[in-house]
Amino acid sequence: MGISRRKFISHTAIGSLAIPITKANMGPNFHEGKLAMNSQDTFTVLFLGTGAADWDVNAYPQEKEILLSGAYRGQSSILINNSILVDCGATVAAALDIFGVHIDTITDIVITHTHADHFNIDSIKKIASKRENQKRINLWIEHHAASYYKTLEDDTGCTVKPVKCFEKFTINEFEITPVEANHFRAETEEQCLHYIFTKSNKSLFYALDGGWLTIKTWNLLKKMKLNTIIWDATWGSDVYYCIFSHNTIPAIHLMKKQMFKDQVLNQESKVIISHLSRNSHPSHANVTINMKTEQIITAYDGAEFLI
Ligand SMILES: [Zn+2]
Ligand SMILES: [Zn+2]
Repeated sequence: MGISRRKFISHTAIGSLAIPITKANMGPNFHEGKLAMNSQDTFTVLFLGTGAADWDVNAYPQEKEILLSGAYRGQSSILINNSILVDCGATVAAALDIFGVHIDTITDIVITHTHADHFNIDSIKKIASKRENQKRINLWIEHHAASYYKTLEDDTGCTVKPVKCFEKFTINEFEITPVEANHFRAETEEQCLHYIFTKSNKSLFYALDGGWLTIKTWNLLKKMKLNTIIWDATWGSDVYYCIFSHNTIPAIHLMKKQMFKDQVLNQESKVIISHLSRNSHPSHANVTINMKTEQIITAYDGAEFLI
C-alpha cells in the first residue's frame, strides 16, 4: 500500500479529530491522494506506533484497518518527512511495511532512550539490512547508552552518533535539540531524552517517554513557540501508577495550560497524545472524544500530520 493511499490529518488541533475518517465525514483539512506540501517549511509526521509497553508485540496485527481504527497500538515511534525515524521498538519494522514506507528514504534513526519498547536492536538491524541504498543509516543515541552497547555498529549495521543532552545536532534540514526527560533507565546510566525538531520556523517537541517536564527543559521551552507537541500519555485520568516517569491526563492538562499562558503553544498549535497504556485508557473512540473537548488529538498508528 503506497503513501498516496494514506489518510492525512492536517493543520489545527481544533480542526483535526484524530480518528479514522471516511470520505463522508472528511473535514476541509483531510487529504487523500498525494499530500501537497504548501511550503518549504512544512513537514510530515507519520505515527508508526502509539502504544505503551503493555501492548503485546506478539499479537500486533498486520491489517492496516485494525491499526487505523485505534483498536491496537504498536510500540511508540514516528517518522518525520519519510527520513527521520524516532525510536524503533519491535513492531516498527512491520509498521513501515504496513503503512507503505519506502525504507530507502530513511537516513537517520533517533533514539529517545533504550527501554525495549523504543530500542530494539533486531528491528534496527532488519531496517538497515533491507535497504537497497548503500549509505549507512545514522543511529543517534545518548552517549552513555552508546558506550554501554559496545558493539552497536556491528549489531545494527548503522553508524552510531552519540548524543549529549542540550547539545544540538542537525539531520538533513532539521536542527534537533535533545532535552532532559523525566524518565529513568537504570542499567545504562543514560539521560533519557525528549527532542525538539526545528525546520525553518516550525518546531515539533517529541516528549516521550517522560513525566512532568524538568525545570531545565522548561527553561529552554518557555522561550520557544511550538507548532506541535507529542506527549507521553501513558496513564489515563484515574490511574496514578508511576506518575514520576510517565504522564496522566490531568498532568498534561496542567502543563498545557501553562504552555498556553506563556505562549509556548497557541490556538494553531497541535497537542497530540501518544504512548497510551492498553489497560489505563478506555477505547480509542472514547479517549478521542474526551480529549477533543480539551483540543487534544489522540494519535493512532498510521495517523499522519502536516506540521
Ligand atoms: Zn515506552
Ligand atoms: Zn521508557
